[in-house]
Amino acid sequence: MKDKKILTGKQIIVEVGDLKIGGDHPPVFIAGPCSVESREQIMATAKALKSIGVTILRGGVFKPRTSPYDFQGLEIEGLKYLREAGDSIGVPIVTELMDEKNLDIMLEYTDIIQVGSRNMYNYPLLKTLGSVDKPILLKRGMSATIKEWILAAEYLAAYGNTNIILCERGIRSFDNYTRNMLDLAAVPIMQKETGLPIIVDPSHGTGVKSLITPMSKASLACGADGLMVEVHPNPEEALSDGPQSFTFDEYKEFFNECKR
Ligand code: PEP
Ligand code: MN
Repeated sequence: MKDKKILTGKQIIVEVGDLKIGGDHPPVFIAGPCSVESREQIMATAKALKSIGVTILRGGVFKPRTSPYDFQGLEIEGLKYLREAGDSIGVPIVTELMDEKNLDIMLEYTDIIQVGSRNMYNYPLLKTLGSVDKPILLKRGMSATIKEWILAAEYLAAYGNTNIILCERGIRSFDNYTRNMLDLAAVPIMQKETGLPIIVDPSHGTGVKSLITPMSKASLACGADGLMVEVHPNPEEALSDGPQSFTFDEYKEFFNECKR
């Protein structure tokens, strides 16, 4: 029982429609706002991202906010806008599921289900998502060890779903200069240990806009299978994570730097 595992390190390529993630496939660029705030906001963001380059559109609709008084997301209405925006530019979408009660609507509307940092330890949720036929973006818990993260992925696999994309998003440290401490050693470690593709989210991983491009280049250099960054039409007015969100022009610069 103790040595039982499904994720043995043998390479797994995750398929999202025609898109393949992992192995020798080109890195994916996941971008979009922290939160879907309105139809106009997500449609405009999608259009701008498409003109620059984007593989998958992101946007939170059920938001895990630290304060109950902060914007909690547009929920199902936002999910429909995100779907419409993804369809309008012909790319898949990813969004976070927090509560199992919204699973059916998520299965209907999204292409990839995100498990956020706060829910990496939510074993009932992982068991449920293990039994669905949809790729899962599994973020690292903010204080999760490599072993705990591997076992969270193993929960999904044990219940039947090995379509897992890991996401390093930084862990808490003693230093608060950056929002989190981005652990890039996790990239080759997790690839070797699980065989799964892994992307890096330097927006949450650093919380500092000027660090996103250098850490993205470092992520690609150490073998990351993709990047996820936050972009907003007007970061100063964003309802969540404005300070770490790129404007469209900043995203363009980031994208061109990373493509080089
Ligand atoms: C997010 O990607 O929207 C998010 C809330 O990130 P995390 O779960 O990593 O904090
Ligand atoms: Mn965010």
